Amino acid sequence: MSDCVFCSIVVGQIPSSKVYEDGLTLAFMDIGQVNPGHVLVAVKRHVENIFGLDDRLAAAVFQTAARVARAVQKAYAPEGVTLYQANGPAAGQTVYHFHLHIVPRYDQDGMHLAWPAKNPPREQLEANAAKLRAALE
Ligand code: AMP
Ligand code: ZN
Repeated sequence: MSDCVFCSIVVGQIPSSKVYEDGLTLAFMDIGQVNPGHVLVAVKRHVENIFGLDDRLAAAVFQTAARVARAVQKAYAPEGVTLYQANGPAAGQTVYHFHLHIVPRYDQDGMHLAWPAKNPPREQLEANAAKLRAALE
């Protein structure tokens, strides 16, 4: 896609600091660096979000993510690593080309994700699970 910033990175039209690439994925430094070593794993093909990934692409993304996460752990020895992946504006997606964040984490590093757990009763969990089982392809 011509006006997509990550497509431009994939073809080398704009600069990026590359960490790893294979036939399907590219890992490069997030320009914002929430913490040093913050990497994005993107698919090379223009796919807007997770709903456009076929099984092969999805597997390739996680293979690259695990490989890069091991490198982050080895290089930075962070106290933790968060994988973060947003689909759609309500989820916080700002670049509409599929990518997964790998963020080295430290106590009190200022990165927050509110987690408003509702802890519903088992019947509600069962109803939710049944709804999803019916929707599985
Ligand atoms: P998201 O909000 O999950 O869609 O994340 C988009 C991320 O892309 C942000 O963390 C940005 O810092 C990052 N980003 C945007 N433009 C660039 C760029 N040219 N090179 C590297 N990272 C970028
Ligand atoms: Zn793109």
